[in-house]
Amino acid sequence: MAQRVLIVGAAVGGAVAAITLRKLGVATVMLEKELVRAKPCGGAVPPAVFTEFDLPHSLIDRKVKQCMIVSPSGQETRVPVASSVPTADDFIAMVRREVFDDFLRQRAQTCGADLIHGQLTGLRVEAQGVTATYRSITDGAEHTLTADAVIGADGAYSPTARLLGLPHLPRAVAIQERIALPASQMERWAESANIYLGYEVSPDLYAWAFPKHDHVAIGIGAGPNHAEKAKTLLANLKVRLGPSLEGGRLLLREAHALPMEPRKQLAFDRAMLIGDAAGLVAHTSGEGIYWAMKSGQLAAEELARHLDAPSAANLRAYERRWWQQYGTMYTFLRWLQRWGYGNERQMEVFTEMCRNPDVQRLTFDSYIHKTMVPAPWGAQLRMTWDILSAQVRNYLRRRTPLREQHPYATI
Ligand SMILES: Cc1cc2nc3c(=O)[nH]c(=O)nc-3n(C[C@H](O)[C@H](O)[C@H](O)COP(=O)(O)OP(=O)(O)OC[C@H]3O[C@@H](n4cnc5c(N)ncnc54)[C@H](O)[C@@H]3O)c2cc1C
Repeated sequence: MAQRVLIVGAAVGGAVAAITLRKLGVATVMLEKELVRAKPCGGAVPPAVFTEFDLPHSLIDRKVKQCMIVSPSGQETRVPVASSVPTADDFIAMVRREVFDDFLRQRAQTCGADLIHGQLTGLRVEAQGVTATYRSITDGAEHTLTADAVIGADGAYSPTARLLGLPHLPRAVAIQERIALPASQMERWAESANIYLGYEVSPDLYAWAFPKHDHVAIGIGAGPNHAEKAKTLLANLKVRLGPSLEGGRLLLREAHALPMEPRKQLAFDRAMLIGDAAGLVAHTSGEGIYWAMKSGQLAAEELARHLDAPSAANLRAYERRWWQQYGTMYTFLRWLQRWGYGNERQMEVFTEMCRNPDVQRLTFDSYIHKTMVPAPWGAQLRMTWDILSAQVRNYLRRRTPLREQHPYATI
């Protein structure tokens, strides 16, 4: 069987693209350079991942039922994970990427996709097809492979995008430690995920503590202007978490980049980009797993439809479907990130805003179900009033940031 589609990168996006193509009868090969170490990731995913992609709940380490947001001054807002109409899916799933990605890759192989353990080193797209070169991790030798089209699912640094001559996207850095805690300490984290805001732990994004089955994953995000401070920010987060990490044992420290902007164009002659390679990470939350899987599915469907004439004009149907479905959500989340994380005063307002029950319902309706439904007028008025009064309160009375109590390293 001639390989019709090459997918570079077989993590969440690449594996779903391969599964989709195989179900549509298209011969597919995945090229993946890393089959041992997990992709550095917080592993928080919405339940939609399990329903839409028919995945077993056995992949879930913990179901988080409550989020706590802690402001720069230490204000705490507890938010129950609940949508407007309560369902059994009112939770945030915590997964480990080594388990999750492995499952998806195996499913792709069971569906008939081939998997090559190798690193893409060259790519040529010509009128008659795609030629890729790769270094095999198994035998160390250079090999060549031809296909009708290529899908770049190779993450934030995307060699596919680079070899297509596309520019780098602006990138944030996220760094995380997995810390095993004694059972008595783990109980505290059982069903709660915490978000920390503040200049010393994350100047323009947020820091987190996410529970996994035998450890807690703590990490920080740092935008393009703060990437070199990432280790100091993580050290400050550990100071802030203080006693709740007592008795902890470091299992792993991991870091990776996150794209901060979507690409202007997602499909080209015989080539498509999905997930982080396309810059499809949600602003505000840095969430990218669902979006990589969803973009993998949409791109694969459009590619299968146009495989006999895979021109940019035809393949860009994927891009149009994507922005029709998710454009409003991306625009809103981008605005929310700029407004809510812009400075510490706004972070205080953001934390207060999250106490509003309408804001909580809207947030989880869109997170859990991945659709944005406009709030009724009454709710919009109540939200506007609460936000404006929090804004005024925080302008008139500055709160004392925690750094004036904690021995943080200066950044
Ligand atoms: C520290 C951190 C925490 C995060 N936390 C969350 C979270 O809690 N929830 C969430 O939804 N998102 C989170 N994200 C974002 C999420 O990890 C990404 O958006 C998601 O993994 C994107 O999936 P992808 O399949 O597009 O790319 P990736 O998962 O990055 O996979 C790309 C694959 O391509 C392979 N590859 C790269 N180059 C080559 C090459 N030359 N040849 C062959 N293969 C290659 C890589 O080995 C990798 O397997 C986090 C990111 C970071 C860095």
